[in-house]
Amino acid sequence: MTSRKLVIAIDGPAASGKSTTARLVAARLGYLHVDTGAMYRAFALKVLRRNIAIGDRQGIESLVAGTHVALALQGDVLRVFLDGEDVSDAIRSPEVSRAVSPVSGYPEVRRAMVREQRLLGAAGGIVMDGRDIGTVVYPDADVKFFMVAGIEARARRRQEELTGTGTAIPLEAVVQDIRERDARDAGRAESPLRRADDAIDIDTSALTIEEQVEIVLKAVSGILQERRKR
Ligand code: C5P
Repeated sequence: MTSRKLVIAIDGPAASGKSTTARLVAARLGYLHVDTGAMYRAFALKVLRRNIAIGDRQGIESLVAGTHVALALQGDVLRVFLDGEDVSDAIRSPEVSRAVSPVSGYPEVRRAMVREQRLLGAAGGIVMDGRDIGTVVYPDADVKFFMVAGIEARARRRQEELTGTGTAIPLEAVVQDIRERDARDAGRAESPLRRADDAIDIDTSALTIEEQVEIVLKAVSGILQERRKR
């Protein structure tokens, strides 16, 4: 029998429901939730604020060394800190959404973030969501999920999220942004969005958040039961 807490990886394209599900699953299990997209977004915000061109690989890669990104739960909301400043709302802007994919494609940026992400999960007891968690960050995760959803459902969710932060954007524009980001994330050379061979697929198009959470928790409890038998 082992009482080691699990490493749970959730990957998938933009607005597929990963982060919301990961946050709630972590809360139920008493685990840490790490939204790796928020980490990349925080760094992309810093690049934009410094007016570094998105194509300036050297400038961007040298900036990452002196950057500190932290995540902290306040109540049931995950707050994101960039060099000590709370940037939770600023990282959701359309400008950051456009810059984050190319910025996070630079090898040194990924190395720095992946190093941090591995440290956070070293003791287990973590639910981490992103694009490469089950393939690169934690290829040996105890359980992996790959979440997908139809473009319509994803665009509506992202639009609601943006409305919540005071940004009104027409649905068509959100669809366009998501399509472009997916294509960039899946097509880039460094850590492209890819489903791990041993991931459990979840299509969230017609699921409620509670249903998504239940599917994950059920698989997790199956694994924990198996382990107890050993
Ligand atoms: O999850 P979210 O949509 O907020 O992620 C924002 C962007 O960060 C993604 O489109 C992707 O370019 C990048 N990302 C990444 N690797 C991860 C998580 C996010 O490259 N593990």
